[in-house]
Parts: sequence; structure tokens; C-alpha cells
Amino acid sequence: MQKPVSVMWESTIACGLACRHCKASARKIPDPDELTTVEGMNLIDQILEFGKPYPILRITGGNALMRSDIFELIEYAKDEGLNVTIAPSTTPLFNRENIMRLKEAGVDVVAMSIDGHNAELHDGFRGVSGTFDAMIKAAEIMREAALPFRLLTTVTKFNVRFLPEIFLLAKKLGAVGWYLYMLIPTGRATIEHEISAAEFEDVFNFIYDLMQLRIMTVNAIAGSEPFRRVAVMRRLVEEGKLSEKELKFGELYRFLRNRLDALLSGESFEKIKSSRAKRGNFDKGIFVSKNGMVHPSSFLPIEIGNVRRDSLVHIYAGAEILREMQDASKLKGKCRICEFSDVCRGSRSRAYAVTGDYLAEDPYCAYVPGSIGEIKDARKILEELRVTNFGRRGHRNSL
Ligand code: SF4
Repeated sequence: MQKPVSVMWESTIACGLACRHCKASARKIPDPDELTTVEGMNLIDQILEFGKPYPILRITGGNALMRSDIFELIEYAKDEGLNVTIAPSTTPLFNRENIMRLKEAGVDVVAMSIDGHNAELHDGFRGVSGTFDAMIKAAEIMREAALPFRLLTTVTKFNVRFLPEIFLLAKKLGAVGWYLYMLIPTGRATIEHEISAAEFEDVFNFIYDLMQLRIMTVNAIAGSEPFRRVAVMRRLVEEGKLSEKELKFGELYRFLRNRLDALLSGESFEKIKSSRAKRGNFDKGIFVSKNGMVHPSSFLPIEIGNVRRDSLVHIYAGAEILREMQDASKLKGKCRICEFSDVCRGSRSRAYAVTGDYLAEDPYCAYVPGSIGEIKDARKILEELRVTNFGRRGHRNSL
């Protein structure tokens, strides 16, 4: 609770795309109330006040490249010593010239969305045809320019059965990591786009498998809190301390694994497994909206302050909601009595989106507390698996 690992800044809501699941409900033109250049620099100064190691600045949108001052702001943050990531939209602005300018400005990692392994699926999500081809082109340019990029996929019922194909495309494109968001129904995303609780379980088990491979970093991020429980259970099964029956693999898991094995074309899964595989899990970040409002996360739209009126350090230290969300004894329903609540606590954003109560149980967790009895050392197991950012050890990994 001393400081967030990252500060995500919605630098603008202007964007040329119309993505089905956009949490920012982006539109063609900026909001006149967005933070100005001076206010953006002031936000960077406020992040510095947390002290070293500084939280990572994650610049999002909308499309951050639609801000004419974006390179100036990145240079300012880099000169001050921050790690900076940026997630531009794949529009014509994400071209060679701007990619080179991002590199020159010192961006550490670029994040780019990939919601399908072909144009039909990806462009269907993004609402604009040609976006898939633009994403492939941008990846080629970044690879040539040695600018590290990772790919982000929002898992929905539309693309869940194509995760093996998307993973292998991310590998082929040379991404340094593949990060998976579990859809949270905010902004334009609705509950009808969600997969079921049982399917989440299968996806988490599939992600655990992918994390064993030495291909690239795979992260389960926003909305993936119960992944931690799945990771602990998988490790207990590997150690012979839990029966595999408890994992309750479903049809979707078997489908995804069979598909991956078929696509690996001769490479055996077991052969490319590695104990040195890079893994990570979501970081504890806070979100600053287009007009300076601060929220506990990008998917939890409760205001805890505004950087126009108060300093981020002060807002973070005074926000009772952040403490409540970290306190397992404050949770409700099955998350309160769950033996994994210390390491999981469920998705507070999803609880809020679905029930209006950020302390309610995670409505998309399939686990029945008490099913496997007392769990010892769950936190230690996660640290050994390196799928957590408790403390600061995951800081670089979460870049
Ligand atoms: S019941 Fe809640 S705390 Fe337990 S694993 Fe599910 S989401 Fe996590």
C-alpha cells in the first residue's frame, strides 16, 4: 500500500477506432476538459513524489498519438527517470515516423491490441477494417527498430476459442509478451460479451500452461485475480498434494490445449516447457482519467480524488477504498470465506461492474470455497512461480 506499481493515464479519449469493448467509450475528438501539457507534466511530477523505485507511467487512451504534445510528455517523463509504456491505437497515426519518434523519446515498451488472429476477427472487434493489417505492419516496424512491444488481448466469447492462434501469431510477430485481459463490462463492453465462470476457469488453466513455455512472457492481467488460485492449485497438483480432479478441466480447456498442440506443428509442448519461462501477473496500479480524476483501477470508475486539486501521493495514501479492497476480511460472499482470499480477493472491478458493490464476491469465479481444505503457503507458491507482483520483485517484469 505504500505506492502503486504503475499509474495508468488516459491521456485522451480521442480515437479513430470504435472498439466493441472500449472502456473509455472513445470518440473521434478529444474532450475539451482533458489534462493540458502543463497538467500532464504536473502529473509526472506527482508520480515522482512517490520516490524511487518510481511507479511505471502507462499512457493509454483513446489514442495517445492524437495528442500533439505526446512526445514532449514522454521525453519529460524519461528525463525525470520514469519507465514509460504507451498503448496507441493502430490507426494511420501509428506509422513508421511516429514509431521512430516514440523510440527517440525513450518509450520502454509499446503495447498494442490483438483481438484476433485474422482481419475478420480483429477488425470485427475494432470496428474499422484495415486495423489488423496496420497492427501487423506496426509490429514489423517496431521489430526492425528494436522497440520492444507486447500484445494485449481482451478475452471475450468472440475470440476465446482462437487463443492458441493469437498466442502463436504474437510469437511470430516478435512480441516480448502477450497480456490477457478478462473482459470487465464497463464502457462499451457488456455482460453479453463475457465468457462464463466455468470458461474463465478453463482459460486460466490454459494461461498457466502457456506460462510454462519459454516462448515469451505471458501475463494474466485485469480481471484475472482468480488466476492466482488456479496457479496455486496447479502447482499443488504438480507436487502431488492435490488431485487433478479438483482442477475440473472443462471442454474449453481441452479444446484450447488440443488446438495448441496441433498448431505447435511437431514441437512437443513438454520439450519447450522451461522452468526459466518468464511469467508475470497484473500489477497494482491506479488510474488517472482524461480530466485528472483518480480511480482505483481503469475498470473501477469510483473517484478517489483529482490530480488537478490534490497530489497523487496524498490521494493514494488517503483512499479508504484501496485499503478495503486489499483487506480480505472486508470482502463479502464467498470471497470473504475463501481460503484463497489472501492471494486472490477476486476481481473488485468485475464485482463492481456486475453488482455495483466493489466488495461483493467475484461473480465470475467458479470456485466453491472449502472444496480443497486449508491452503498453506499460497503466497510462497506464487512467489516461487513468479506470477505475482507482491512487493517490488515484479517491477521490471510488469513493464
Ligand atoms: S471465491 Fe473469491 S477469493 Fe476465492 S478464488 Fe474465487 S474470486 Fe478468489
